[in-house]
Amino acid sequence: MNESMTRRGMLQATARVAVATGAAVNAPVLGSRDEQDRERTPQRAGSQNPRWYLRHLVGIEWGPTGANDKDKIYLSRATGKQIIDHQLKAHSEYAVLFMKDMEFAYYNSRVARKCPNLARRDLLRECLDEAQKHNMPVVAYCQVQYDHSSWKAHPEWRMKDPNGNDIPSRLCYHSGYLDFIKRVTGEMMEYEISGFHIDMLDFGFGPPYGCWCKRCQAAFRKEHGIAMPKGVTWDQAWEKMLAFRCQSNTRFCKELQSFIKATRPDISVDFNYHGYPPFSWEVGQRPVLHAINGDFVTAEGLPFIFGHANPSLLTCFLKGARPGGPVQVATSRTMHGYHDFNVRPLAELKWEVFTYLAHGAQCTVVDKANYDGTLDRVAYERLGEVFGEAIAKREYFGHKPLQEVGLYYSSRSRDWYGREDPVKYMAAFWGAHKALMESHITMGMVMDENASLERLRTFPVVYVPSAPVLTQEEVQLFDAYVSGGGSLLVTGLTGVCDRYGRVQTESLLSGIIGARLTRCELEHSDNYLRLPGELAKGDGAFLLEGIPSDWPMLVWGPLATYESAGARALGELMLAYRSKDNQWSNHMSPASVTGPALLVHRRGKGRVLCVPCALDAAYVGDFRMPEHRRLIRNLIRHMNPHPEIAVHAPPNVEIVITHDQAGRRLLVHLLAFSGSVPSAAVPFPKGTRVLPPLMAEPMDYKARVQVNRPFRRVEVAGPGTDIVVKKKGMHLQTCNPHEVLIVHV
Ligand SMILES: [Zn+2]
Repeated sequence: MNESMTRRGMLQATARVAVATGAAVNAPVLGSRDEQDRERTPQRAGSQNPRWYLRHLVGIEWGPTGANDKDKIYLSRATGKQIIDHQLKAHSEYAVLFMKDMEFAYYNSRVARKCPNLARRDLLRECLDEAQKHNMPVVAYCQVQYDHSSWKAHPEWRMKDPNGNDIPSRLCYHSGYLDFIKRVTGEMMEYEISGFHIDMLDFGFGPPYGCWCKRCQAAFRKEHGIAMPKGVTWDQAWEKMLAFRCQSNTRFCKELQSFIKATRPDISVDFNYHGYPPFSWEVGQRPVLHAINGDFVTAEGLPFIFGHANPSLLTCFLKGARPGGPVQVATSRTMHGYHDFNVRPLAELKWEVFTYLAHGAQCTVVDKANYDGTLDRVAYERLGEVFGEAIAKREYFGHKPLQEVGLYYSSRSRDWYGREDPVKYMAAFWGAHKALMESHITMGMVMDENASLERLRTFPVVYVPSAPVLTQEEVQLFDAYVSGGGSLLVTGLTGVCDRYGRVQTESLLSGIIGARLTRCELEHSDNYLRLPGELAKGDGAFLLEGIPSDWPMLVWGPLATYESAGARALGELMLAYRSKDNQWSNHMSPASVTGPALLVHRRGKGRVLCVPCALDAAYVGDFRMPEHRRLIRNLIRHMNPHPEIAVHAPPNVEIVITHDQAGRRLLVHLLAFSGSVPSAAVPFPKGTRVLPPLMAEPMDYKARVQVNRPFRRVEVAGPGTDIVVKKKGMHLQTCNPHEVLIVHV
């Protein structure tokens, strides 16, 4: 987001109080509602400079529930006036409106079947008539995959599995469906819309896989000179098939985007993105290739599905997949699914929305209407409170992030090591993110598809969580980064596989790790890491902070054993006892040492730390322990001991630091998630099915912020935060799910 668009000085009208050393004050209240209203959407809809997705922070996606022609109730009470009035009450800055879903069009379409209960009414017309009075941009939602009505009407467009069977509700990207969608979008472009949100560009989220139709087979043979593989073969032909699938939906998106831009260059196009974890090759998307489609990249956060670490992880991922590009994240106001007619607590909505904004993304909250088309008043009241605060705080968002660690994502490992069990690869990435986030170590993400030496060098530390499949080019890149003075942390099985994910006898990274691979333990996950007490007396003392010495710590997952060839070896990795005669035979207690826990190798001006076990993956597994996180923190702090800003806070507080260059200030965002005690309402054998926690109330907590650079003064955005400045740093106490410490430099 452009700085000039976000730095509007909204809070200049509010009396912020600069804090003098030693003084404790309460920060003042935010801008009044009138000021917030004035701030919203000052420009005409359709205005080209800047575009709506660059100038707005928050919006609501409205959609129906169900798609029925069997009664007179479905959506019968929806009106454009009601939809837009609710958006306005919630301080929504833009509206995304379902206009073509899996069954119906909700405008007067000539090519798609219109929702029968609308009769002669045109919902898009009604919404636009209302939205235009308030200069509110309207984005039309248009669904591609799972378009069941098109699938039924056009058997020739259906996606086929390897045996030639139709795949239910999925449409081939090489079929005439593209022309149909062009006609649908062409109709909608006759209205004064500001953009399209095109949903579902996947190949499905699991088997059966597509597409083996005759058109795709011919296109594949033309492109690759061979016949399609007969199924999922994980060989050279399958490598071509993976590329072919990725190119199929990219070509579809590009052709559709070109058509739209040729007709209406003033409007935006975005495509719902599924290149991020937990999605893998099965959806036919790659992290970078698909993030760069459209005017911005957009994806769904949904903590009740993906976990409460996901709002942070997803936004960092999108920013890494499309560096510098605009990013949007969508979530839901509901508790457990999109259509449960329930409203999440205000505190939780606030925490989630502000997490996206702090990381520099725009946020869309999805609301699904009641079956009859009416809306939930409480949902819009709560969103109004969240969005009002977001708009008042606009000046704090969209600035350049300051990040300590570049977390590396290997899509090649995702595909070829993870194969049909992508979590096998992703667990280490998830665990690394969670450990860093909870340790208040700021991070960005680097994708293998767009990694460059220049990008790596923006981070003091690059962290490669177990990426078994690396290419020679990637290893050379890491070597150049380290030799030039960078610090590299690699974990797990990084570098031990060939390009097809097969474990080798030598690691590609041996040279830069300074050690030889002697074995990999792949069969059993009951492996342990032990830090001997003698480490406390030497240069390995940093490892022991917060971790019991001489204690075998379970690091559930595979491990590699190395033998030093120049690296300094510290600590021990241990294998478990093996037994075939008891029910615990796959989860046994520690037995013998197999190799070092840590290899430290100086190379050129930098150094490499290698921890060849599943330290990070274990942290998001069933046997997670705080010690996993602490050891990761100890390793990073050892490599980067004096970050510009260091924060000590509870682990459930996330830190995002940005630099407002024009305002000459560093902005330290503090985001606190505080869950209620999780419970399980299931019979005994399913007792591990614990529901995700709900953030019913905000948490009152203390944080200490240490600024390791000269600064003029500090203040907080507030209200409700006390701050005391002492010699050793700023002491904050707050109960705000989102707070900003402003450091004037
Ligand atoms: Zn096909």
